[in-house]
Amino acid sequence: MIMCTRHKPEETIQAHFNEAVQWRRDLHKCPQPSWVEFFATGYVAEKLEEWGYELKLGREIIAEDKQLLLPEATILQREYERALKAGVQEKYISPAQGGFTGVVGILKGDQPGPTVAFRFDIDSNEGLESKAGSHRPVKEGFASQNPGYAHMCGHDAHTAMGLLLACHFAENKANLKGTIKFLFQPNEENLSGAAAMIATGQLDDVDYLFSGHVGVSARKIGQIALDIHSILALSRFEVSYTGRPTHAGISPNEGKNALLGACAAVTNLYAIARHDQGASRINVGTLEAGTTWNIIPESANFRLETRGVSNEVNSYMVQKATEVLQGAAQMYDLTLEVKPAATALSGRNSPELIKLGQKVAENLHSVQETIPKIPFNGSEDVTLMMERVQNQGGKALFVLFGTPVFGGHHNSTFDVDENVIFNGAEFLARIHEAVTEESLIDDYRQ
Ligand SMILES: [Zn+2]
Ligand SMILES: [Zn+2]
Repeated sequence: MIMCTRHKPEETIQAHFNEAVQWRRDLHKCPQPSWVEFFATGYVAEKLEEWGYELKLGREIIAEDKQLLLPEATILQREYERALKAGVQEKYISPAQGGFTGVVGILKGDQPGPTVAFRFDIDSNEGLESKAGSHRPVKEGFASQNPGYAHMCGHDAHTAMGLLLACHFAENKANLKGTIKFLFQPNEENLSGAAAMIATGQLDDVDYLFSGHVGVSARKIGQIALDIHSILALSRFEVSYTGRPTHAGISPNEGKNALLGACAAVTNLYAIARHDQGASRINVGTLEAGTTWNIIPESANFRLETRGVSNEVNSYMVQKATEVLQGAAQMYDLTLEVKPAATALSGRNSPELIKLGQKVAENLHSVQETIPKIPFNGSEDVTLMMERVQNQGGKALFVLFGTPVFGGHHNSTFDVDENVIFNGAEFLARIHEAVTEESLIDDYRQ
């Protein structure tokens, strides 16, 4: 890459935009899901190091006890080797072996100022990408080459946006105030990557945290949404009941039926009374039990999630769900095990940053519309990072960057308008400028 010496965000970012599109396409071709994002890890780390960032990798940034739902060893190994074959250098991914994926890149500006973190998620989805000739990644030759995995949520575009922004800061280091911290986070889709990074202290010194998502409910290029509400708090669990297997004809009375307990639990989970303080959700997405016709089922396992419009509403759902699970165990004399599988919080953007962001957006040519107030209605684990920063007196902002999403998120024909990579990087560069330049802060305060 040729380093340029221009200083305005719209110029340096424009100068490298075509490369950023290529980065997005390279990442799109080699998608890897939660905890096996070895290709993205190596790809990002190599560029950040080339641009002068201090790197943190592996166990230094991912806490082992927060690696929920880690894939089995054979998958970890297969994906590690796949990344090497796709061309990343082993020195950047060997620290990630065993699922310690993700990259933290730090750049210290030549002038004093706050520590500003930018978080981008890097994982793909599990699923097949469309093979239709009308699907642009197919048409233009950058469709997923990893069977069963595909970028269907735009995290490839997020990663490219982060790299474009990182490249901009590196080129303007002489004017940079304070410290920049890039958090390229693994495992957003299963909502465990943020917690794993927080637990190793990556957010401890952060004054401002910025993050965002392409699309969702901002579906036109040039739109931006800053005043986001209804980010749902979420809790996921793996639930297991264990009973006693016996012959269903000879001695059913001696058995303890785990399937029956699970059924009682599931039915009553959906019967939890709704909370007067706002919306909640509950879902049991899988249920497996028993072995065959004539054996009283010894075990039953299911996956349960609850959500709430606030942390309080979700806590209520978790508490009531726990009572139901325990009640069913007691009723059928079963052993109950509940393993947490993911957590996200309801999350709130810092009001000062919503205001500041709106002012910044008003002055950008790339922004055609600032969406006034918008519900998210999904869950995001960046909320844990936001809470962490806000609890230590910092400020956080999660933004939606508008783009068409073609078949929609998590659909095999998902795609983005790649101009969103430029738009997001430019906005984030400008808001960074606004929080670090005292004079600009005053302007925006008016
Ligand atoms: Zn997603
Ligand atoms: Zn996503």
